[in-house]
Amino acid sequence: MADPTGAPKRPRRLGRRQILGMVGAATGAALVGACSDDEPTGSSSPSPSTPRTRTPSPTASPTPTPTPTPVAFDAAAAFAVVDHLATQVGPREAASPAFDVAAAYVHAQFEALGYAVTQTTVAVPAGDSWGVPVGAGTSANVIADPLGFDASVPHVVIGAHLDTVAVAPGAEDNASGIGVMLDLARMAAAEPLSRPVRFIAFGGEEPRGRGDSMHHFGSQAYVRDLPAALRSAVVAMVSLDRVGVAAASVPLATGGRGTTQVMDALSAASDRAGVLSDRSQDNRASDHWSFEKAGIPSARVGSVPYAGYHSVGDVPSVVDPAQLTRVGVLTWTWLTSL
Ligand SMILES: [Zn+2]
Repeated sequence: MADPTGAPKRPRRLGRRQILGMVGAATGAALVGACSDDEPTGSSSPSPSTPRTRTPSPTASPTPTPTPTPVAFDAAAAFAVVDHLATQVGPREAASPAFDVAAAYVHAQFEALGYAVTQTTVAVPAGDSWGVPVGAGTSANVIADPLGFDASVPHVVIGAHLDTVAVAPGAEDNASGIGVMLDLARMAAAEPLSRPVRFIAFGGEEPRGRGDSMHHFGSQAYVRDLPAALRSAVVAMVSLDRVGVAAASVPLATGGRGTTQVMDALSAASDRAGVLSDRSQDNRASDHWSFEKAGIPSARVGSVPYAGYHSVGDVPSVVDPAQLTRVGVLTWTWLTSL
């Protein structure tokens, strides 16, 4: 009598290995190739035992082999987000009508992926946005949770700021981070992670004056409003901020005040993914800093210098899809290790 448990083993999911292949492909900078060249072509299917079924109807179609669909980072999709935000929406200062348009876009993107999406209002003061006077007003955090998410259960926060300084289209700063985050959200929806992830597009990250109280308004509000019990449930926060300018390596940083455990884990993931990373500089200029100050393990990914920074020159051509892939693969490799 056949052992009922003797069913042929299904191939394990191939996600990570597929992704590893992609990193190499991505260095060729082919925008679409980075994500689609790696289809499981002619997979040396182990063509297991000959079927012993007894219905050889001559016209019967062969039993479809269940081919696991690997989840792979899609650089073209991330770049399309960069292009949309920088070209169609344009500069989106935190309290501007354009910011609201951008927030509605990201909200809809998350919803289309099946997330439960909420928006919280973020007050921002009048000030100076990189040389341009701006008024007081409201911005927003757009928060996407997997269905059934419980914020009191240990989870990860992946954040990227959605606002720009007053004049910049913000392709790199920070449509790049939003684009990578949205694709990671797509991947997490397709292949749920052991550790749940809350994705947040933060409003009001850019400075409106000098000093630590005059920037990072969305993330500061988020952390401030978290009850202590929920704060301790955030096991790690990563800010994706300026992640598309081409470089030999991906910058990883903390503010230098808290633990380095998240940066260490990202660094180890980059090794496994075959992506070079550089953790040589402290950085307090992004939303991870709000979490680090509150004692929550956090890190920033990104910050390669570039000429168009905070200017009208921050357009999609400064963003390299291969760099988006490096960051996406690195971050996904980390997420799957938690
Ligand atoms: Zn930024």
